[in-house]
Amino acid sequence: MAECVPNRKRIAELMEKEEKRLEAATPKSFELYQRAIKHMPMGVASTYQARDPYPIYFTHGKGPHIWTVEGQEIVDFHNGFGCMVQGHAHPAIVEAIQKRAPLGTQFALPTEDSIIMAEHLAGAFKLPQWRFVNSGSEATMDAIRVARAFTGREPIVKMFGSYHGHHDYVMVSIGALDYGKIGPRDDYASLSYGAGIPQSSIDLTAAVPFNDLENMTKRIERMVAEGNAPACVIMEAAMMNLGVVLPEPGFLEGVRELTKKHGIVLIFDDVKVGICTARGGSVERWGVVPDMITLGKALAGGTPAGAIGGSEEVMEKVNDGTVFQVGTYAGNPLGMAAARASFEKVMTDEAYAHLNHLNDRIIAGCDAVCEKYDFPGYTVGISSKGCVNFALDKITDYESFIKTQDHELVALAWLYNINRGIIIAPGREEEWTLSITHTDEDIDRYISAFEDLVRDVTA
Ligand code: PMP
Repeated sequence: MAECVPNRKRIAELMEKEEKRLEAATPKSFELYQRAIKHMPMGVASTYQARDPYPIYFTHGKGPHIWTVEGQEIVDFHNGFGCMVQGHAHPAIVEAIQKRAPLGTQFALPTEDSIIMAEHLAGAFKLPQWRFVNSGSEATMDAIRVARAFTGREPIVKMFGSYHGHHDYVMVSIGALDYGKIGPRDDYASLSYGAGIPQSSIDLTAAVPFNDLENMTKRIERMVAEGNAPACVIMEAAMMNLGVVLPEPGFLEGVRELTKKHGIVLIFDDVKVGICTARGGSVERWGVVPDMITLGKALAGGTPAGAIGGSEEVMEKVNDGTVFQVGTYAGNPLGMAAARASFEKVMTDEAYAHLNHLNDRIIAGCDAVCEKYDFPGYTVGISSKGCVNFALDKITDYESFIKTQDHELVALAWLYNINRGIIIAPGREEEWTLSITHTDEDIDRYISAFEDLVRDVTA
């Protein structure tokens, strides 16, 4: 492992230099921002699109590329936080949308494509019953409600640091602004993520450490003993908002056993993992079948759709009318047509083989750069997802992420990339999403920008 510890003063200087370079290249974005802030907080549609001092605005995308309002072509490794694993404007998805639009895009009445998609997902995820929604947040919100109805319990358990959407139940213990408040590993605090979340919701959500079955078991068994048994454990099989944190061998199997033992519904939130890492997401990758699955993002090739899958038993609560799982746009024909095209024509075995090839190339390239410069970093990757951790020690959960990851370098890497024609997801979600349209050339461009960063930081 590398020994070289980055020089803070040097990082600050590089940051200033790169920020100036970006500002010089994006005058039109600044102009748009001035207009936008008059009517949109932070000048954007979602806080996740904001950037200090101003966001870069984009016009269009094709395949692996997107274009800024300044007309600069950028290789896209952000891919809409992982929605666009199919690449932008994929001809098969465009064709499906073009065929569907003149036939009507919304009835709030059932159409056949939703049945076909439910059949596809049942096969891929080994769960027989499906419903459709419009986003990842809707999927997790409804799945938790079903789990509560099924068990007759109210508390829920999540992994500390995980993100499952922006509704009240799960805007808890995503991060600790004051790290001292996190508490002991078998009794993590329930911390609100931003304002406006009712205390009653916060109190119902307990957080446990990822990859730590012992402390998770202690917490859950204490909840059970105190008469507060949880309705569900909601988790990503691999955490995808701290870079990429893979499950240690045996962890998912252990969680499956623990939840079964206490009658807790196990929900794998595959909003990021599903589709992007395998057609059958976490179930196909790790072979552990949960009671429920939630999907979103890449499901419908860049149109807003999500899905909830479940066992016959759990979903009977929806089937018998006990739970109202509803939504005006649920299963809308445009999203279902795009999802079907993606599933049947785009995300083929060859597409996944190509993603694996690209991931091997980007991992090998970035690892070689770390080695060449004796740089304290290492890579993690599966299929379309991966990252370089700017860390000496292995990141296995939120605590090790906060203690080990070099957050200044993460911010600097974003600037280095954008100034070299590459975009990755901003902030701590710095993992890349590769698309099936990326080429070896695109990957080599990423590696070259990474080498620029490492060379300059270690100079
Ligand atoms: N679950 C996970 C694992 C996610 O990563 C996200 C979004 N980043 C969501 C749920 C929420 O999805 P959406 O933003 O579409 O509501």
